Amino acid sequence: MAENPYEMAIKQLKKAIDILGYDETVLDILKVPQRILEVSIPVRMDDGKVKVFKGYRVQHNNALGPYKGGVRYHPDVTKDEVIALAMWMTWKCSVAGLPYGGAKGGVIVDPRKLSLRELEELSRGYIRAIAPIIGPYKDIPAPDVYTNPQVMAWYMDEYSKLRGYNVPGVVTAKPVELWGSHGREEATGYGVAIAARVASRKYGLPFEGARVAIQGYGNVGYSSALFIHRWGAKVVAVSDSKGGIYNPQGLDPIKVKEFKNRTGTVVGYPDAKKDISNEQLLTLEDIDILIPAAIENVITSENAAKVHAKIVIEGANGPVTPEADEILFKKGIIVVPDIIANAGGVIVSYYEWVQNLQGIQWDLEKVHKMLEDKMIPALDRIYKKHYSLNVDLRTAAYALAVERVVRAMKLRGWL
Ligand code: NAD
Repeated sequence: MAENPYEMAIKQLKKAIDILGYDETVLDILKVPQRILEVSIPVRMDDGKVKVFKGYRVQHNNALGPYKGGVRYHPDVTKDEVIALAMWMTWKCSVAGLPYGGAKGGVIVDPRKLSLRELEELSRGYIRAIAPIIGPYKDIPAPDVYTNPQVMAWYMDEYSKLRGYNVPGVVTAKPVELWGSHGREEATGYGVAIAARVASRKYGLPFEGARVAIQGYGNVGYSSALFIHRWGAKVVAVSDSKGGIYNPQGLDPIKVKEFKNRTGTVVGYPDAKKDISNEQLLTLEDIDILIPAAIENVITSENAAKVHAKIVIEGANGPVTPEADEILFKKGIIVVPDIIANAGGVIVSYYEWVQNLQGIQWDLEKVHKMLEDKMIPALDRIYKKHYSLNVDLRTAAYALAVERVVRAMKLRGWL
């Protein structure tokens, strides 16, 4: 059975605290969230009956600034999962150098079974229920699994009605027409591509012509492919849940996307040399960079020894299991951890909030430049820590994240 996500989060935290030489008090404070709000949301369903859904907002730590984190709609949401994800957001915001703490929300629901009207009523009900503890200077939600810019637009509208004036800065990843930021949609993939470029430079591998395989061709996979291709590397393999495609000469990401939009999958793309399975994609022999950008736990103790790439960039959350991590480390394969590799989304969310607070809108070029300006120094700090502590990049990233939060707590007098 999969490990309880909260227990796993505590293990990661303990490891960082040990490396940094902090005492038990730090663990006592950081292992529990500052606030857990459990809410019930009555929704009148299309058949006229009222159904009650359970939701959470967990605020882990705000030493560095207002809480920030997405809201997940999923039938398997649990309180422990939301706590673990809130803690994880604290580290993610910290390591990226953002002035934010960590939070997360969740509603136990299968949104695919709701009509659009029911989804809207649920979303408005959830935001009303958590309204007393959120706000642009308190806690700023965003999308996560099965929530999207439309849901954020309803959140913003409902919160604004409660306050009696427009409050765009209360949520991020809104539609561009409603104070959303240019570049937010492809931000995570853009950040993944930056992480790939920086990793190849650090390890003396020319990015131009580097051979890249990407698992998953959704938001993160496709936008990573787009920028990787634009910056001169070769995307030789991509996949989705139905399987993958391979062409040693390189694939055109835009044409592959057009094909997927038409047919529902990348499989069968006419310019591919052959179709491959997801398992084959992960263990291709002639690739330099592997980007798992679909789901968690795909590189495991079963297949890690067969990975041939020199660099793995975690586009998805948790695609490499802890056992696989050790195997890859021993093989000398660089793993750029999810906590920074896929932080492009939250970084541009931060910039959306900055634009909202100032009442301005930046152009795409400025957003991309500002994203690079946050991402590259954050990666540099992690590589520096990795060399100075002689640990893998994931451990270095966690150590840096916890260190920054602890420093803020000490300065505030919490410790
Ligand atoms: P998405 O739903 O847009 O795309 C997911 C892709 O993965 C699809 O192409 C799907 O076909 C494929 N897929 C699903 N199951 C698969 C399987 N078993 N094998 C291979 N491919 C499979 O999702 P996304 O937004 O691109 O998110 C992907 C990952 O990145 C998730 O782990 C998510 O938590 C993480 N992430 C996303 C963002 C973001 O801004 N979208 C930010 C941070 C992290």
